[in-house]
Parts: sequence; structure tokens; C-alpha cells
Amino acid sequence: MFLTVLILLVPLASGGDRPIMVTILVGAYAFIIVMLYQIHLNYFKPTNQITAVLQELIKGNYSVRAYEKTHYNVDKLGYAVNKLAFNLQNLNRQDKMHSRQLLTVIDHMESGIMLLDTQGYVQLINRKFTDLFDKTEDEANNQLYYHVLKQKKIYHSAQKVFLYEETIRNSIILEKDGQTLYIEIVAVPFFNESKELRGLVFVFHDITELKHVEQIRKDFVANVSHELKTPITSIKGFAETMLDDEIGDRSLQEKFLTIIYKESDRLQALIHDLLQLSKLERDEFDIELRRVDLSPLIEDSVTMVNDQAEKKGIHLILKVDNNLSLIGDEARLKQVMLNLLYNGINYTKENGTVMITAKRSNQWIEISVEDNGIGISREAIDRIFERFYRVDKARSRDTGGTGLGLAIVKHIVEAHKGSIEVESELNVGSTFKILLPAHK
Ligand code: ADP
Repeated sequence: MFLTVLILLVPLASGGDRPIMVTILVGAYAFIIVMLYQIHLNYFKPTNQITAVLQELIKGNYSVRAYEKTHYNVDKLGYAVNKLAFNLQNLNRQDKMHSRQLLTVIDHMESGIMLLDTQGYVQLINRKFTDLFDKTEDEANNQLYYHVLKQKKIYHSAQKVFLYEETIRNSIILEKDGQTLYIEIVAVPFFNESKELRGLVFVFHDITELKHVEQIRKDFVANVSHELKTPITSIKGFAETMLDDEIGDRSLQEKFLTIIYKESDRLQALIHDLLQLSKLERDEFDIELRRVDLSPLIEDSVTMVNDQAEKKGIHLILKVDNNLSLIGDEARLKQVMLNLLYNGINYTKENGTVMITAKRSNQWIEISVEDNGIGISREAIDRIFERFYRVDKARSRDTGGTGLGLAIVKHIVEAHKGSIEVESELNVGSTFKILLPAHK
């Protein structure tokens, strides 16, 4: 274009003016070029760059920034865009932090979570859900919930929530790793601000432990009732017989009264043990801790069972080291010794031996009660600390046992932060070994 202007204008000038004309034209051209370059540098280039920055922001890349040192107006635009990008980046960071926190909370919940949209597609599950149902995120997310969990009760719960838009509770039983799990399901609908249903959350609570405790409580109540029923029936029966028939025979009268006396004795023992057990449970952390010297405690206990041992000709052997002491509840520790000694005597044949040893072993005090009695079978050993468990019911009753002695022993030992173990062989004998923390 410049050349065309030059060719057109130069011939119009007279011969001497031509060089001046060419110089003016070249100068004007250079000036225009410089002006255009400046416009490009100060307006077009920065606005292009700002457009590129805006496009990056649209894509979600909030870390881009525009170059600000340009012409005043463009500079202001660049500054505004950078401020916008900065604010967006902050918002985005906070947003990510909040969702990370939320996901961490959801993932560490003790209950399984499954979130559904209104179409029934799984949007989110947590770690506990994966643990319970063995379904990974890849297997569950964006799948229809009834393809992920096939239990009918889950399907019915979801249907009801979608239909009635209210919380539904239900429960299912899961078989997992050979274990039966009881799961409580709560299906909760959730809504947007205009109160339209947006989906539902399933919460799965593992209530197996609770069920177990409930079962133990039920069994306990049933056992107590049964244990109380036997002596009461017997007492009532003999008392009725004595009232109905005019029993003249004095020896028969005495026999019946002895039975009544024995049965009421058993009842008393049972109630005593039950009260003790419930007191122990209530005061578990309220044991009276004092320094206890072991040697006199064991000697006292042995004196108390001496009569019973003598009746069966059982030898009591004591091997207790001197100066053994610990921090504990003297009365309850004596109860432990008495229960173990009575068992040793009761479950050992006449003329047998019961040996009591106590010694220190590192930071522990080791007390053993060893007998050469009837012994306990391997299967029974795991159960003898259960309440009311007896290997031989009739034999235990004959000796006045309640089936609660070892449960009480275990309770007391554990309340002292100790442990108890048993070694036994049928017809050879049993050793009950207690470890208690020694007094430093
Ligand atoms: P019990 O009042 O019946 O003795 P325990 O709780 O003290 O109740 O003991 C539970 C059961 O453990 C007893 O019925 C008995 O079968 C068994 N047992 C406890 N100690 C011994 C022992 N030294 N030798 C053999 N069996 C024992």
C-alpha cells in the first residue's frame, strides 16, 4: 500500500520536490507503523491475553493471572480480572477443603452410608459401607441401588421413602466371614430449598454387639429365674406335704425340714452371689484400693475353709513367699481366694490335696490354687467363667455351688487389672493361676 501511494503521489510533485515528498511519505509511514505497534502493544496484546485468561477461568483453571503493566484502562481491566481469578481460586480452595472435610467425616463414620439420587442411582458410599457389603466405589457409584444391594428390605425401604417422602426404619441380617451381623437400616429422604425431593440417604448401623448384650441379659434373666425356681419349688413342695399330711413320724419331719433348710441355704447363697455380682458391676471402678499384704490374707482364707477341707480329709498346702504386697481391695481379694479354695475342695476327691502358692514374678504377683481333683475337660474350660455354667450341675448343687463363683472371681481380678488362667486335665487336677500387678 505504501508503495502504491508512493508511485501515485511522487510523479505529481515537481522534480526538485520529489526527494522531500519521498522523505515526508517515508516519515509518515514510519510514524503510522510505530503508532500501530504501540496500539497493538498496549491494547490488542493485553486484551487478547485477558481473553485467554478468562477462557482459562471458564475451564476452571483459577491459578492463571493477566499481565497488569499496560495502558491505564487495560491495566484496570487486567487488575479486575486478576482479582476475580484470585477470589475464584480462594473460593475453590475453600470449597475443596470443605468437601474434603465432609468426605473425611463421612468416611470415618461408624455407620455405613449410601446416598441415592431421585432416580435411585448411587451417588456416594463410605468406607464402612464397603466393609459391611464388600462393595467398592467403582462397583457401587452410578449404579442402581437395587443392583448393588439385593436385600428385599432395602428395596422396600427405598420405595417407601420415594413414595411417602418420610424416614423409614428397618433391619437386615448379614452373613459375613462366617459371622451373623444385625444391621439396622435408616432410610432418610432429603429435599432442596423448595422442598422438592433430591434423593435419599441410607444409614446402616451394625447393632450386633447390642443384640449380643440383649441376648446375654435375656439369658441371664432366664437363668436366674430357673435357678430360683428349683429351690423354691422344692421348699414349697415339702412345706405343703408337711401341712397336708399329719406326719407323726418325727424322723420324717426332720428329714423334710432338713431339705427345706438346705434349699433355703442354697437360695441364700444364690441371692448373695447375685447381689455381689451386681454390686461388682455397679462399682466396677469403685474398688477400695489399699496396700494389701498377701500372706495374712491367704492364711485367713485358708483358716476359713479349713473345716470343710478337714471333713473331706483334704490336705491344704501353703507355699506363700513373705513380703508380698499389692494395691487392691482386701475384702474382694479374699473373696477370690475363698471361691477358688472352695472349688478346689469341692471338686477334689476325699484325701486329695489343694496347694496354694504365691510368689513375685517381675512386676506381677502370681497366686496359684492347684488341686489333684476331677479336672475340667478342654471344651468346658472355655466356659467355666460364664455365669451359671457348671460342668456337672448335680454335683455343683450338692456342694452348694451357685455357678457364679468363677464369674465373680474373674470380675474382681479384672477390676484389679489382673488376669486369670486355668490349666486342667480330667482326673488329674486343675490349676487356677492369677496374675495381679505387684506393689512397687
Ligand atoms: P460353682 O458354684 O458351680 O462351683 P463356679 O463358677 O465356681 O461355680 O465354677 C463353675 C464350674 O467350673 C463348676 O460348676 C465346676 O464344674 C467347674 N470347676 C470350677 N473349679 C473347679 C475345679 N477346681 N476343679 C474342677 N472343676 C471346677
